[in-house]
Amino acid sequence: MALAIYGIGVSRGVALGNAHLARRDRLDIQEQLVDHDQVENEIKRFRKALRESREELRLVRDRLPAGTPGEITEFIDIHALMLEDSSLIEGPIKIMRELDCNAEWALNVERSRLRRIFEDMEDPYISSRMDDVDQVIDRIQNRLHERATGKDGPGGSYRGRVLVADDIDPADLLLLHHQGIAALVTELGGALSHTAILARSLKIPAVMGVHHAGSLIAEGDSLVVDGDRGVVMAEPGRSVLKHYREKLRCIQRRQRGLSRIRTKPARTADGTSVSLQANVDLPQDMKLLDEANADGVGLYRTEYLFLNQPEAPDEETQFDVYAGLVKALDGRPVTIRTLDLGADKQVDSRRVPGTAPINPSLGLRAIRMCLNDPAIFLPQLRAILRAAALGPVRVLIPMLSNTQELFQVKHLLQATRRELKAQGQEVGEVELGGMIEVPAAALSARSFAKHLDFLSIGTNDLIQYTLAIDRIDDQVGYLYDPLHPAVLKLLKMTIDAARAVGTPVSMCGEMAGDTAYTRLLLGMGLRDFSMHPGAVLEVKQVVNNSDIELLKRFCPRIMRATNPLRIAALVRELNESV
Ligand code: PEP
Ligand code: MG
Repeated sequence: MALAIYGIGVSRGVALGNAHLARRDRLDIQEQLVDHDQVENEIKRFRKALRESREELRLVRDRLPAGTPGEITEFIDIHALMLEDSSLIEGPIKIMRELDCNAEWALNVERSRLRRIFEDMEDPYISSRMDDVDQVIDRIQNRLHERATGKDGPGGSYRGRVLVADDIDPADLLLLHHQGIAALVTELGGALSHTAILARSLKIPAVMGVHHAGSLIAEGDSLVVDGDRGVVMAEPGRSVLKHYREKLRCIQRRQRGLSRIRTKPARTADGTSVSLQANVDLPQDMKLLDEANADGVGLYRTEYLFLNQPEAPDEETQFDVYAGLVKALDGRPVTIRTLDLGADKQVDSRRVPGTAPINPSLGLRAIRMCLNDPAIFLPQLRAILRAAALGPVRVLIPMLSNTQELFQVKHLLQATRRELKAQGQEVGEVELGGMIEVPAAALSARSFAKHLDFLSIGTNDLIQYTLAIDRIDDQVGYLYDPLHPAVLKLLKMTIDAARAVGTPVSMCGEMAGDTAYTRLLLGMGLRDFSMHPGAVLEVKQVVNNSDIELLKRFCPRIMRATNPLRIAALVRELNESV
């Protein structure tokens, strides 16, 4: 039956695919789609693993020393019998034929089915026999695993599937992206979570905060994910499918239209030049940056180098990556943000077992963590300064809340530079900038601007900290409002303060890449934007169709308004004006 479930559209676009259900603790299960004509080979592989498992048990039984207790022999016999049992053989084979999937996955699906049956058993003894089933299945899995060649199956494990999960962190999303997921649906999470940002960066249509998705959607359901409207449709009817296929074609047409302005400068209709740079999280963003012809990298989130790694990358590894970026940008500036770990970007190697931060967003995050731990910070500074010898590099400090932190960073940079020179290393000049993403920093933007070469407004955190809403908590997502008068005041204050002392100011939060706010920000005086590369051309189109003088006249009306509905209506009016 067709079903529409609503959540928060966090990454635009539309995808059609079959559901793959996963919960965090089971994400390591490897499902691989196999070509239909390869299913019989997969079944052969499964039968071979069964034969080998039986043989293994036979050898164990044959070698049992005399006097082995009866229970042990019995236990081996039971397992050997199970390996002959038709449900354990025919069940996975049927699943492989139905889902065109690999044997491991089919076996896991069968395990879940059997577990449900055993859990329903009244008799505790019989119910406990599930342990035997688990052990037998593990034995077969081990045989399959040992026989497997290479880690990734043909075409990746999740190719074309829509992942439906309770929650997923950025590190896991990266892994799943490599395995080819087409779209993401999660029960938890909001538009500002790093997972959402990453989904946008990876161009994975995503809807989050879809409560009970895991129970409303079944494995294999046909799904339409509409990341623009924040809706997921399960088992859609023909007319819905027709509508979405047409929508997909429209999106492709729009993309082709945008590519025509790729080489045009970003300049308003009345001649004001605007800089449009790209945020880079992952190496593949570089390709998108080129496609969009962005003016440089306005934010490189270095923490992604640290995720999914058993240990922090050393100086050389970091240098290679930064140097690669600088060379690829060929004279355009690269803004390298120092490590912003903490809050929703945790790495295992830095978790202290048994401790849970009381509130990670307000704790030892970003520059606080780095200043507290020179062993992680100094190799990064060394790598950045060395990469700066190869082209223009800007260093950006995340989550500044007082100028003392900034002076400490300056001091460390100077000392590192001296050390590198003494060691005969090539170092380059860097501009030093600070992120304005904490209300305290926005309120004292002038003093930051006086001591820095540039400011960059991080609206994702600025909104989170100003409105006291956790950016990953979908329950308070309805309070997330970039047009809240308090947010607008802090933005204007920061832009004005920087301009008053002649310090360039840019914006690299998600607001900078949302065309709903482009005109408002231009009217407030912003001229430097950095965004996900996929948004650059859309923003350029709005910039090129805007008239700065008109915007400047209009914006004070928005800044004076206090009613959120009135503000939203005025912004709409501004966007619709010609
Ligand atoms: C921001 O807070 O707006 C920002 C760009 O940083 P991040 O999203 O990485 O916290
Ligand atoms: Mg931030």
